[in-house]
Amino acid sequence: IQWTEGRGWHDAQLQPYAPLQMDPANMTLHYAQSIFEGLKAYRQPDDSVAVFRPDANARRFQRSARRLAMPELPVETFIEACDLLVRQDKEWVPSEGEASLYLRPFMFASEVGLGVRPADQYTFMVIASPAGSYFTGGVQPVSVWLSEEYVRASPGGTGEAKCAGNYAASLVAQAEAAAQGCDQVVWLDAVERRYIEEMGGMNLYFVYGEGENARIVTPELTGTLLPGITRDSLLRIAADMGYATEEARITTDEWRQGNADGSITEVFACGTAAVITPVGEAKSARGEWRVGDGGAGEITMKLREALLAVQTGQAEDAHGWMHPLGS
Ligand code: PMP
Repeated sequence: IQWTEGRGWHDAQLQPYAPLQMDPANMTLHYAQSIFEGLKAYRQPDDSVAVFRPDANARRFQRSARRLAMPELPVETFIEACDLLVRQDKEWVPSEGEASLYLRPFMFASEVGLGVRPADQYTFMVIASPAGSYFTGGVQPVSVWLSEEYVRASPGGTGEAKCAGNYAASLVAQAEAAAQGCDQVVWLDAVERRYIEEMGGMNLYFVYGEGENARIVTPELTGTLLPGITRDSLLRIAADMGYATEEARITTDEWRQGNADGSITEVFACGTAAVITPVGEAKSARGEWRVGDGGAGEITMKLREALLAVQTGQAEDAHGWMHPLGS
């Protein structure tokens, strides 16, 4: 779908996947007016297909657009585009377990020019790719590197938006994490470099205590981390399961101390791609420590199963999160 200043959205088309032709002076290539979303279509027990909370992705896409001075795509148009694509690609929606068809809606400037200003033309597209189970051979805890040198987002910046530039800025820190022998980077706040923000492409959760008395805490949305839809859903699912939940600021010292004295029993990351990933080890320039017993925590796995059961249609959709598509 195209957007042109003075004309609005026009020329919606369904086309076979193919390379795009681009002018070398396309403004996106130079000034990165580019935003995206990620969501998954799951095969349901009755063989229909449903997508998890596409309205939430559509609204976040609008917020990202506003931050990047781009036009807002109506929520219905976003969902309709996903619907058309799923209908076309229905046979590609896998039927086994947590496998899915991943949908990637995105928008970029399509004006040609070298002036630095918001473009007057944009292109919105959705592509799809089958996604297998994220973990083959059981859920594996990840190790994380707490980056004190690089920051992903500062107050007033684009951290809350899902824009391409945030990911470009994160690559060097991800490489640093790998050089430190870790799987993922964990971002700290830009001002004091001590509050936990989020992981490379997932939000974080900390479990304090055990069993029914566990308290489940996630870093609060300060404007510099991505408001994950999985994060939001888990706040509600954890409350449904009877756990106390909280959004709060957590420092690296609190994390490390909490694992040392046993008050933090589990840590996990959550996002569309892996749903929930346990964190087994953490490392920073000041040392490394094990999270709980280093394995996948009990509450982590309970929450993972509960969310996946809703997504794959195995459990009742109490919040009306599943949106039938492609029928
Ligand atoms: N943080 C970042 C930086 C991400 O890229 C993602 C993935 N979209 C998330 C968190 C998790 O968000 P969601 O649950 O909406 O996938």
